[in-house]
Amino acid sequence: MKTFKSVPWEQVTFIADLHIHSKFSRATSQEMTPARLNEYAKLKGIKVMGTGDFTHPLYLKELEESLEKAPDGFYCLKEDPEGTRFVLTAEISNIFSWHGKTHRIHTVVIVSDISEARQIQERLKRLGNVSADGRPIFGFPAKELVKIVRESSADYLVIPAHIWTPWFSLFGAKSGFDSIEECFEEETEYIYALETGLSSDPPMNWVWSALDRFTLVSNSDAHSPQKIGREANCFSCPVEYKEMTAAIRDPKKGFLGTIEFFPEEGKYHYDGHRLCGVCLSPNETKKLDGICPVCGKPLTIGVMHRVMDLADRPMGDIPDSALPFEHLVPLSEILQEAMELKTFSKRVQREYRRIVSEIGSEIDVLCKIPIEELKNALSERLVWGIEKMREGKVSVMPGHDGKYGIVSVFGDKPTNGKFKARTQSQKSPQKTPSKQRSLF
Ligand SMILES: [Zn+2]
Ligand SMILES: [Zn+2]
Ligand SMILES: [Zn+2]
Repeated sequence: MKTFKSVPWEQVTFIADLHIHSKFSRATSQEMTPARLNEYAKLKGIKVMGTGDFTHPLYLKELEESLEKAPDGFYCLKEDPEGTRFVLTAEISNIFSWHGKTHRIHTVVIVSDISEARQIQERLKRLGNVSADGRPIFGFPAKELVKIVRESSADYLVIPAHIWTPWFSLFGAKSGFDSIEECFEEETEYIYALETGLSSDPPMNWVWSALDRFTLVSNSDAHSPQKIGREANCFSCPVEYKEMTAAIRDPKKGFLGTIEFFPEEGKYHYDGHRLCGVCLSPNETKKLDGICPVCGKPLTIGVMHRVMDLADRPMGDIPDSALPFEHLVPLSEILQEAMELKTFSKRVQREYRRIVSEIGSEIDVLCKIPIEELKNALSERLVWGIEKMREGKVSVMPGHDGKYGIVSVFGDKPTNGKFKARTQSQKSPQKTPSKQRSLF
């Protein structure tokens, strides 16, 4: 039996989160500024952060004022030149008709220089409103965006965002396509990577051979600094912009793998209706012909369902292109559960701050520091929770129709019948026994 591998932490040179939003995006925290991102990225253990929203004129101005180019080709805060690295990123929403169907596609763009970001912003200004939202909306087809970026940047990446979510993505049930070529046509060759999104993990993407040639990347899509790094990318190449983009184009050059949510925690993992309290597996939805048993309207088809519709391999298959990954539960969530608190209270925040300042970054604590070492510094219950997470022994209540799922690491939680243990079949392939983890 083939197995999939854990991230080899001893080889990781840096971790990058390349899709977030600034305070200029809707429903985003006012704290999403370069200074706060610099600070939070350190707590999380993220070395390279996407700026998000470079298409927004006021934000780009703010970036120009607060950042400077570092010798490694990334940007850094002027007042903290050794701190977090920044890379210019933006997300664009294209809503367009194609052969009689309306498509809504989100795409992440990465460029190397502020001058290139400004050039793209200028071109987009002529095609729509770049100031209304940090994630602007345009009526032209997504493939035109690839052309604009190609013509404006020498070292760019165009990455279809959260490719499976129903409403705004490349393969989404409501407004997507059934193949990448249908959407991007002659521009497809300039796309090297796909963002799997919070509601799917690499094994779910391994069952469709059409995706084998793409690097599967993961990002947080965070709207607040607390959420950055909840999904991210691990590299083994030197911390340099050119090295990072080359590794995303060709993982052999230093893209090691990804940090992932348990996909059930994502907002669109299963099918259902949030307001009707209906959450269904793809097979259950098929039995009901896609109709909600409460309101009689069509159900919102989630990510798992779409994956199963497009898959051409059985679940559990592992292609040669498969890369290592880790499923994580955010430390604040494990803490909250360990402290038996209903909400993310001040007490949880204080304890989180204490841990990441005294012991190591969040990713160090969750992934790298040996359990024996954690036992010296943390409560027995918290360490037990971290160990369960590392072993993948969690209980899940899948997300659906825009409602986040819940992952519980403590088996002793009151379940009121809604939680069920994550089974081996959900985990797909058998995981290799985790090696002795060590700090690098
Ligand atoms: Zn999006
Ligand atoms: Zn986004
Ligand atoms: Zn309903």
